[in-house]
Amino acid sequence: MQLPKSRRRQKLREKKCQYPGCGKIFFGIHISKYCPEHRQDRYRIRKRTKPEDVNIKNQTYKHNYTEVVTMVLSCALEACDNQFEVKVYPRQYIYPKYCPDHRNEYKRVRHLRQIGRDDLIEQMMKEGEMMEIELPGNEKENGDGEAEPMEMIDVVA
Ligand SMILES: [Zn+2]
Ligand SMILES: [Zn+2]
Repeated sequence: MQLPKSRRRQKLREKKCQYPGCGKIFFGIHISKYCPEHRQDRYRIRKRTKPEDVNIKNQTYKHNYTEVVTMVLSCALEACDNQFEVKVYPRQYIYPKYCPDHRNEYKRVRHLRQIGRDDLIEQMMKEGEMMEIELPGNEKENGDGEAEPMEMIDVVA
């Protein structure tokens, strides 16, 4: 007859519950973070992921097109004259604001450094770059007050 294999036990040690405001001492293995009570599902702390500000890489483009229109936009980066085509979709108001070359932050920073505009780099980091443009000649006349909720469609950036 064989002896059952000895199960390796993890050493229990005194731990302090990490649940905000608890701090109860309990015995647990090294990876336990919470006391038995706060290990229950309803206490699980869900990390709130902050939705990235769409305006950092994209711009809000208010329009009333009812069909897909191709527009040529200019790169929003200082001293970049590149233009790029963007398909404007009905009820989609978030569009890239930089030319394909400058959709990544690293390249924008490099470009700004090249033209000696470190101040703009700083500003970019600080403000997260808010920018809104409106169609010329498109007066605000949506009488129903608030704008329709924006449809968030991922823009390839
Ligand atoms: Zn606790
Ligand atoms: Zn550009």
